Amino acid sequence: MIQSPTVKILDKIEITTIPKFKGEGCTPYIEVLSGRDFDLIYTNKNSVNLKKHMNTEGGGTTHQQPKIVINVDKDPLLCGDIYFRLMHRTSSGKGKLICRFALNTSFIPQDEKMYEFTRNTVDPDAVQKDQRIHPAFKIRLYFKDVCSKCEPTLPLDQLCRRCVELMGDEVKTWKVIKNILDVRLCH
Ligand SMILES: [Zn+2]
Repeated sequence: MIQSPTVKILDKIEITTIPKFKGEGCTPYIEVLSGRDFDLIYTNKNSVNLKKHMNTEGGGTTHQQPKIVINVDKDPLLCGDIYFRLMHRTSSGKGKLICRFALNTSFIPQDEKMYEFTRNTVDPDAVQKDQRIHPAFKIRLYFKDVCSKCEPTLPLDQLCRRCVELMGDEVKTWKVIKNILDVRLCH
């Protein structure tokens, strides 16, 4: 049972199949935002490694879909509800939304440390019918642990001090929710 918040480091993002903008490919970058205040936590928008990926559909086999890997530097610490925007940089340098998705770090599978979204589970719904996005499109987010002891299945009062400090307001929010649930269960 999930009982507490948890801190994770975003390690890399793997995008399977290449969205086709203007009939070609795309120059993807990622924006990671806090679900609490929508502050930008991380983006690789200005990275020198940003490059255009061409869509060579028809050239490859269906067994080996092309992949784009975004290696995340700076080890951003994530906790709680996190929003992601996968963007395409146009030739004029403008950002265009490919899709958006969200997760809570407590619900990242503890064994795989990976969270997957498909064309059907990203927003907006229009993506599902978007001809520029392949039906096999998927995004895999890979995470690293910050703490080797704390897990979201531990009760709040068993989290280590360092994690509690790192998570700040998130722990307070979970305490409030726990109190509400405890009161309900008592009646
Ligand atoms: Zn800890």
